[in-house]
Amino acid sequence: MNDRREFFKKIGLLGLTGIATKLVSNDQLNVLEALGQQSNQSAQFTLPKLPYAYNALEPFIDEQTMIIHHTKHHQAYIDKLNKAVENLDGKFVLEDSFKSISKADIAIRNNGGGHYNHSLFWQLMKPNPDSKENLPSGKLAELIIRDFKSFEDFKKEFIEKATKIFGSGWCWLIEQDGKLKITTTPNQDNPLMEVAAEKGKPVLALDIWEHAYYLKYQNKRADYINNWWNILNWKKAEELYNSK
Ligand code: MN
Repeated sequence: MNDRREFFKKIGLLGLTGIATKLVSNDQLNVLEALGQQSNQSAQFTLPKLPYAYNALEPFIDEQTMIIHHTKHHQAYIDKLNKAVENLDGKFVLEDSFKSISKADIAIRNNGGGHYNHSLFWQLMKPNPDSKENLPSGKLAELIIRDFKSFEDFKKEFIEKATKIFGSGWCWLIEQDGKLKITTTPNQDNPLMEVAAEKGKPVLALDIWEHAYYLKYQNKRADYINNWWNILNWKKAEELYNSK
């Protein structure tokens, strides 16, 4: 059994090397992912599967960026988070840890935030191969107009704040005491953390780390931010708004 695990691990490793050069198909990747999870059953946190293919967000986010971002960056946060919590007493609940994150190990803040934020980020996007206009609907659309005057005003403020983040961080739409607000966090912090300047429930999340866009957009961060609106999953955002 152990030999088999080692074998799978090695295949996984070879597969991941291939990923960067697009030598592995999505089907093969799914198999490798499943194997990776199988060989890592004792770990508390595992990489969530993407709800779409790695190339599904083209042309707005390219396949290579998605593969590396998901299988390398997100996986690294998970691995480091698992290591940071493995010797803690009692059950570790990630969302609970955010409430007193200033007292936690910095590895939990950085990697727990990294895991949580990316898990949200993937779900908050969806394919739009025909580049159709992509707008919110229902209750969330109404609330955006209530709190930002118009969708255009909302979008402008979000783009402005996201573009101006200095260094690495995230731009968020949050619900704070019944009101929608746009806020940013540095590094892998998020609005659920007690240390956040503006706290609230995340409704939208945009990754502004260079690893999220640099392969395709290089220094043109604003183009990445502008293109993201095409693949925003408004249905998921509404779900998050309505969640407890
Ligand atoms: Mn990222």
